[in-house]
Amino acid sequence: DVWPVKTSFRESPVTATSLAALIPPELDCQIIIADESVGQTPFREKVDLVAISVLTGTAHRSYEIADYYREKGVKVVLGGVHVTLLPDEAAKYADSIVIGFAEKTWPELLKDYFSGNLKPRYIEDKSTNTFAAVPMARRDLQKRFGYMAPHTVSATRGCKGSCDFCAVPAAEFGWQTRPIREVIDEIKMMNPRKVVFNDVSMGEDMLYFKELLRALIPLKIQWGGLASTKIFRDPEVVDLLHKSGCSYLLIGFESISEKSLSNINKGFNKTESYEGIIKALRKINVVLMGTFIFGLDSDDKSVFERTVDYVNEHKIDIPRYAIYTPYPRTPSFDRLKKQGRILHEYWPHYDTQHVVFDPLLMNPQELDDGFKWAYKNTFKVSSSFKRTLSSGKNFFITFAGNLAYRIYLKRLFGENDRIYKHIVT
Ligand code: SF4
Repeated sequence: DVWPVKTSFRESPVTATSLAALIPPELDCQIIIADESVGQTPFREKVDLVAISVLTGTAHRSYEIADYYREKGVKVVLGGVHVTLLPDEAAKYADSIVIGFAEKTWPELLKDYFSGNLKPRYIEDKSTNTFAAVPMARRDLQKRFGYMAPHTVSATRGCKGSCDFCAVPAAEFGWQTRPIREVIDEIKMMNPRKVVFNDVSMGEDMLYFKELLRALIPLKIQWGGLASTKIFRDPEVVDLLHKSGCSYLLIGFESISEKSLSNINKGFNKTESYEGIIKALRKINVVLMGTFIFGLDSDDKSVFERTVDYVNEHKIDIPRYAIYTPYPRTPSFDRLKKQGRILHEYWPHYDTQHVVFDPLLMNPQELDDGFKWAYKNTFKVSSSFKRTLSSGKNFFITFAGNLAYRIYLKRLFGENDRIYKHIVT
């Protein structure tokens, strides 16, 4: 069953395939991987054990699936970022939960399950866990089509940053690098023309990052990934990005206001550096996906027009907008909760595309309207064309990327109740 029933706007995930690779061979398991972003959960298949990786935005759906299987007497294990953030909530829907990274705990859990001794919680031992010698992901078990990028690999995990809305530091994932030899071997095994790194911030350790880029050069492939503006402080990085085959970078600019950046603890982004970064990437033909967040405490209603003007004027190839989303257990969630500004804890809307809190200088409806206005105006065919015309040899890719966004927006803005009405008191 390799064909998608729908198309995802994401790269192929590696969580399930990595967990599959960690299953001890002596257990002789038959494995089914399902991803509802490109397919359906095979409810008719008879299974013994179900394991679900849970993000905050998918928590409700994960709990629904868990309830379905548990009613049928099938044991359910939940893990992932949301479970690590809110283990007590997740435990209500599972026979067992996994907190933190699962390289050590997942094989142990499976052995316990098969010997009838499944424990309610498995917690990562941070003192012994590393990102080395992990087996190669079982990509043979995953759908190959339906994803924007089918070849995904990880080199690092976690982040050294502490942006106040971000789930990564809140989940205390720390920062780990994988031996470069293992990363390169995994890429060679996939033999792709293009690979996507799904790391949340590749350049937190510049010595490691530059070594990785040097190791990519002989492969003569293209790659894309996420990095922060900090990497551009290193004078060698632009040349190495070019030589290593970087074809796109997603950079979280977040705001064109220094005050807003400092409010969200992302003061390391310096707005005066943005123009140089944009120009440097264009010069080496790297497609820039730049993200901006709306609804920060110093954002008034003029932020939408100012940001769209900035994006068009500086010709950011593929802009992406997000609504400020205070993920549970983050400093921003705690602060807004204390201030009585969290509107609801309806997790499906904690996806950066819906308003979940009361912004300071506008009301929730104005934030949602401004967000939609910004997207519509940015991705008008005429704006996209003008912006991407300067992308040089990347024109067709970036223009097509802009057009693809219009499909995504049609889906998103077709929703009826974009602002969930239940107010938390
Ligand atoms: S938003 Fe990016 S840079 Fe900030 S903490 Fe999260 S992963 Fe790190």
